[in-house]
Amino acid sequence: MEKYTTFEHDVLIIGAGGAGLRAAIEASAAGVSVGVVCRSLLGKAHTVMAEGGVAAALANVDTRDGWQTHFADTMRGGQYLNDWRMAELHAKEAPERVRELEAWGAIFDRTKDGRILQRNFGGHKYPRLAHVGDRTGLEMIRTLQDHGIHQGIDFHQEITIISLLKENDRIAGALGYDREKGRFRLYKSKAVIIATGGMGKIYKITSNSWDCTGGGTSLAYHAGAKLIDMEFIQFHPTGMVWPPSVRGLLITEGVRGEGGVLKNSEGRRFMFDDVPDLYKHQTSDNEEEGWRYTQGDKDAKRPPELLTRDHVARCIYREVKEGRGTPHGGAYLDIAWIKSKISNAEVHIKKKLPSMYHQFKELAGIDITKEPMEVGPTTHYIMGGIRVDADTQMTDVEGLFAAGECAAGLHGANRLGGNSLSDLLVFGKRAGEFAAQYAKEHSQMQISEEQVANLTGLAEKPFARYDQENPENPFQIQSDLQEMMQDLVGIIRSEKGLNEALESINKLKDRAVNAGIGGNREYNPGWHTTMELKHMLTIAESITRSAIERNESRGGHYRSDYTEKSEALGQMNICVWKTESGEMQVEKIPKKEIRNDLREIIEQMK
Ligand code: FAD
Repeated sequence: MEKYTTFEHDVLIIGAGGAGLRAAIEASAAGVSVGVVCRSLLGKAHTVMAEGGVAAALANVDTRDGWQTHFADTMRGGQYLNDWRMAELHAKEAPERVRELEAWGAIFDRTKDGRILQRNFGGHKYPRLAHVGDRTGLEMIRTLQDHGIHQGIDFHQEITIISLLKENDRIAGALGYDREKGRFRLYKSKAVIIATGGMGKIYKITSNSWDCTGGGTSLAYHAGAKLIDMEFIQFHPTGMVWPPSVRGLLITEGVRGEGGVLKNSEGRRFMFDDVPDLYKHQTSDNEEEGWRYTQGDKDAKRPPELLTRDHVARCIYREVKEGRGTPHGGAYLDIAWIKSKISNAEVHIKKKLPSMYHQFKELAGIDITKEPMEVGPTTHYIMGGIRVDADTQMTDVEGLFAAGECAAGLHGANRLGGNSLSDLLVFGKRAGEFAAQYAKEHSQMQISEEQVANLTGLAEKPFARYDQENPENPFQIQSDLQEMMQDLVGIIRSEKGLNEALESINKLKDRAVNAGIGGNREYNPGWHTTMELKHMLTIAESITRSAIERNESRGGHYRSDYTEKSEALGQMNICVWKTESGEMQVEKIPKKEIRNDLREIIEQMK
C-alpha cells in the first residue's frame, strides 16, 4: 500500500476560517486550482465564534467617519508599533470588503433607512462595527462558504497539516494526515497560504476553541518564516468566570457598546478611576455622558468601559487583586441597569445580545436582563505572528503567504475589537490574489521522497514510544504548559517569572519528546496532541523570549518590573526566527519609517 496519497493544487490554503475562505475565493477567481485544508469540519473554524462585528469606516451611522479616522484609531490602539502600510490598506479597503460580503448575501442588521447598521466598540472613535446581532462571525462564514462553494475550490476537511515542504528555499507543498483514518496526505503546491488562526489554547483560560494552538504559525517558523510582535497577547477583559467548566468563554464587547457597565463588589464604576492620558480627551468623565454616547449622541464622549481591552483587563485584574472582586474572582458587568433608562429594556437586550442572553441563561443560570454577569480577563487574541509583506502577504519564505490572526503587523501592540474580521477580509483577499499570481509565475518544485519519509517516520514515533516504560502523557504536558503560561506569561509579567517560564518550557520540551500514545490511528486525539506539542511549545517559547526582550509595558504586554513605556522600544518590533542550527533567535528591529502624509493624519487626529 502507498504510504501516502498525493494531491496537487496551484495554491494550497491551510485554514477555512474567514481569512482562508476569503483567500480561496480570490485565488480561485484568478483562474488557478485551489485546495483548502482544515483540521475541523467546514463551518467550524474559530471565526464562527466572532460576535460583535466587523470594523469598516462605512460612515452609515456617523457621517464624520472615514478611512483616515479608522487608520488613526488602529495606529493609536496599536501604540504606533503597527505596520503603517497594513493599517492604511486595511482602513481603505475594509468598507469595500464589507459591501462585497453584503452583495454575496450577508444579512447585516440595518439602520432605519435600510443601510448596514454600525455599533460602538472600544477604541473606535465612531460607531463602526457592522454586525449581525452578536453572531457576526457565523454569518460571515456562512456567506463566504455559500459564495465559495460555487468557485470550484477543493475542500479537504479534518486534515491536519504537520509540516510544510520546501525545496531550494521555495515552498513546494505540505504534509498532513486525515484525522478520520490517520493516513498521510502529501499536498504539492506552487504557493501555500497559512490561515490557521490564533493560539489561545496554550493558556489555561481562553475564549479560543480547541483548534487555536498556534500550529500554523509554528509550521511557518520551522519552514524559515520570521515572526514578529509575539509578546503582544490580548487578554479580553470580559470572559465568563463561573461556572468553572466555561471559564474564559467570551462575553462580547457589544454588551458594553450597548450600555453595559463594570462595577466592583462595592458597587463602584471603577473604570472612571484610571483613564490613560492618550485617551483622556476622548473619554467621558461622568456616567450620564457615557450613557448618551452608547445611545448615539454624537456630541458625547465614550464611557471608560470602552477604553482599549488591555487597559480594561488590567483594571479588572487590579480590582480583584485588591479585594474588590466578585465571589468567583471577577468584576460585575451590568446591562440590566438600562431598565432605568429605557422602557423596553428586556426586549431590547434580547434582540441586541441574543447569544449572550442564552449563554448566561443556559450555562450559568443567570438572566442578564435582570442580574449582572461576573466577568474576568481571558486570553483572546495574538497581535503577533508571521511577518508578511504588507501589500502581498508573502512571508520571508518564497511562495509562502499568511493571512488572518496567524499573520502580524496590522494591530501592533493591541488590536481594536472588530479589526480582526476586517483583517481577514482585506488581507485574505490580498493573500489569495498574490498567491495566485505567484503560482502562475512559478512551476511546481519537486519534493524528495526522502524528506517525506523522514517526516512520516517521525510522526509515527509516538506509537512506538507507548510500548516503552513510562511514556509521557501528551495531555498532561499540554495541561502543564497551559497552567504555566497562565501564571508566568499572562496578563502581568516580570523578568523573574519569564525566565522561570523559559526553564519550564525547556523541561516540557524534554518531556514532549518522550510522549507516547496507544490505540490506533483513527480519530486519535492523543496522537494529534502529541504532534501538536512541538508547535505549542514553539509558540510559548517565542512569546516568552519576546516578552523578556521588551523591557517596558505597552499594549498587550505588561511588565510589573518595567511599568512605563520606553521611548526607545516604541521604535522597535521584536522579531523571532530559527537559525541554521535550530536555535530560536530573538532580535529588536527598527520599525518601518512612516510615510509623511500618514504621519500628518495621525498628528491631526491626536
Ligand atoms: P480561524 O477562524 O481560527 O480558522 C483557522 C483555520 O485553520 C481552521 O479552519 C482550522 O481548522 C485550521 N487549522 C489550524 N491549524 C491547522 C493545521 N495544522 N492543519 C490544518 N488546518 C488547520 N474579531 C472581530 O473582529 N470581531 C469580533 O466580533 C470578534 N469576536 C470574537 C469572539 C470570540 C469568542 C473570539 C474567540 C474571537 C473573536 N474575534 C473577533 C477574533 C476573530 O474571531 C479571530 O481573530 C478570527 O476569526 C480568526 O480567523 P482566521 O481566519 O485567522 O482563523
